Amino acid sequence: MCGIVAAAAQREVSEILLEGLRRLEYRGYDSAGMALIDNGHVLQLRKYSGKVKALEDANALNPIIGCRGVAHTRWATHGEPTSANAHPHISGDRVALVHNGIIENHANLRDALRAQGVEFRSETDTEVIVHLINTSLEKGASLFDAVRETVAQLEGAYAIAVVDTEHENEVVVAREGSPLVLGVGIGETFAGSDTLALRQVTDTFVYLEDGDLAVLKPSGFQIFDGSGAPITREKTRLKGGDNQTDRGEFEHYMLKEIYEQPDRLRDTLTFDALDDSLFGDQAAAIFDQVQAVQIIA
Ligand code: GLU
Repeated sequence: MCGIVAAAAQREVSEILLEGLRRLEYRGYDSAGMALIDNGHVLQLRKYSGKVKALEDANALNPIIGCRGVAHTRWATHGEPTSANAHPHISGDRVALVHNGIIENHANLRDALRAQGVEFRSETDTEVIVHLINTSLEKGASLFDAVRETVAQLEGAYAIAVVDTEHENEVVVAREGSPLVLGVGIGETFAGSDTLALRQVTDTFVYLEDGDLAVLKPSGFQIFDGSGAPITREKTRLKGGDNQTDRGEFEHYMLKEIYEQPDRLRDTLTFDALDDSLFGDQAAAIFDQVQAVQIIA
């Protein structure tokens, strides 16, 4: 598990991305990084092992600027928690990518890319994704098509967010098996692993589903299926203020999550889209007879 945040805005986004990472630190915290594209179309990258604080301190000393960017707090699955393995991963000094999940067929993809002369800078499963995208871009694909062609080759779970210096007005995201939500602002669009990361900037969200891709621009967003056909997903407006910003009175996020379970269960059960048939075609009849639920583990 890890946390990703992305932004396509008309204002500087480094502080928004950092705040998003602080809020996502409960999902992963062995390293953190961000990449922004500045107005001169230059990719700026910072990544460090350790907590988000290391990235924050480095950025305070030597800030990076830009209105489009991607950021990540990692929980390593492939490769040590070093700065080289931290995300974002880059390719061709133009594409930067963050990834939450595990790519099962990374070894085969890496061998094929190496055979084409691609050099790897990390031990992660993730790095194959960014090189595949760059390979498509170099053949003339748009950023959206490059991401779409790439995810079609992946086996495993991913939520990804990608920026490219040659498509500096947009961020492309995709998900399969890992969570990803869009945050809809006025003149700016965001994506994150969790609404908590984006509640600082908006109360309007669009939950992506498995197989979805989206193009984020300051002016709005468009969602597509894997064939490239446009699709729509409902907007959700969260009630209440931005009151989940930190651990509150709790010493650890895990403790906070345990105490929040009754509320989250209540929210889930009242969510309109909850469909009994997900539990099997007999579920509705069985659920009608349920008198108590015992949670044993
Ligand atoms: N598998 C990737 C890695 O080890 C992403 C891990 C994560 O989701 O934080 O870098």
